Amino acid sequence: MAYPTEKQVPENQDRIQCLYCERTDEEVPLIQFVFKGEHHFICNRHLPLLLHNPKELACKLPDMEQVGAARGH
Ligand SMILES: [Zn+2]
Repeated sequence: MAYPTEKQVPENQDRIQCLYCERTDEEVPLIQFVFKGEHHFICNRHLPLLLHNPKELACKLPDMEQVGAARGH
């Protein structure tokens, strides 16, 4: 007998959680983005890091160092 499968998750996306603080969507609102073909999630508190200080995320996403911060002030 085939049982209905549980949630099928892609390999590179085992959890829906902020890539920085690792809180899940049960705890905080998460925003999904795509970087180099991979989907990531970031919470509302750390979204500004992505926008203004992407280098802070380089420890989580290595290539993020090369990403410039948003300008316009
Ligand atoms: Zn976070």
